[in-house]
Amino acid sequence: MRAVVFERYGEPAEVRELPDPRPAPHGVVVRVEATGLCRSDWHGWQGHDPDITLPHVPGHELAGVVEAAGDRVTAWRPGDRVTVPFVCACGSCPSCAAGDHQVCERQTQPGFTHWGSFAQYVALDHADVNLVAVPEDLSYATAASLGCRFATAFRAVVQQGRVAAGEWVAVHGCGGVGLSAVMIAAASGARVVAVDVSPAALELAREFGAAHVVDASVTPDTAAAVLELTGGGAHLSLDALGSPVTCAASVNGLRRRGRHVQVGLLPSPDGTTPVPMARAIALELELLGSHGMAAHTYPPMLELVRAGVLRPDLLVTSTIGLDAAPAALAALGAAPGAGVTVVEPWSGRA
Ligand SMILES: [Zn+2]
Ligand SMILES: [Zn+2]
Repeated sequence: MRAVVFERYGEPAEVRELPDPRPAPHGVVVRVEATGLCRSDWHGWQGHDPDITLPHVPGHELAGVVEAAGDRVTAWRPGDRVTVPFVCACGSCPSCAAGDHQVCERQTQPGFTHWGSFAQYVALDHADVNLVAVPEDLSYATAASLGCRFATAFRAVVQQGRVAAGEWVAVHGCGGVGLSAVMIAAASGARVVAVDVSPAALELAREFGAAHVVDASVTPDTAAAVLELTGGGAHLSLDALGSPVTCAASVNGLRRRGRHVQVGLLPSPDGTTPVPMARAIALELELLGSHGMAAHTYPPMLELVRAGVLRPDLLVTSTIGLDAAPAALAALGAAPGAGVTVVEPWSGRA
């Protein structure tokens, strides 16, 4: 198969022929029809993820067709249209038994714990636990986003954030996850304040339902701007970028008893990030993490997509072939860009 591979962290990845993967007894191999470019892929390429071993094939938000299934797989067969959460669960540990597959104790993640989907084929573990059927009328490019950015945003806003109609929701960082969160919060009846340094990203945030936008490139204190616009602070606030600055701004822009949800990854040399805990105490804030979304909780989200209430298709702003993926991966660091790029590994396009 053809795949994007890197031998060293931070050095250019290249497209190469690699052996086709084979399914584990409980797993499948999926022919990748579309796979999204995500900032987590960039972090992995930079060497920020301890699960990665070299050489490595990135890619974790994918959709495609089951090519082969292991002999212990009962629910899926070749030809099925599928996607997966980027956290693939074991299905049998205590967390999985409680339904919390997104924090499985023996999780695997394509593109991190093993070779991922910037390739024509990808192996996925525990297929009966993790695969999600993609409806006929949902394109692969749109379905790919469900595996990471869109499902992650859905869990952060709806499941962890417990958004309610009429609430103020602040979204710090309007990349793929942030824009998804803006759309989901607005569709839930919340009033959304979107914060980003990019006017193009803020323009998209407005299109997707943000009531107000804050241009962080010219607003030194974005938390103060959120407090002002919301008449005292957001009920729910997300750091969808992942940086000490946006994390603190998210917490500092909450009203009393507000909820902060940390969605963006926070890699740091010592593994810690400063958080304004004094404010968390004084205002009785809730500080929550959000990590993907369990496959078995996809149906309510898919129903909203089917009904047209949520439009993940609008987030896909460009489609490229495999040969253009290494440069696009490298570009994510400096300029995350507005909207989502999807790689189609079988397309003849560069
Ligand atoms: Zn991702
Ligand atoms: Zn598990």
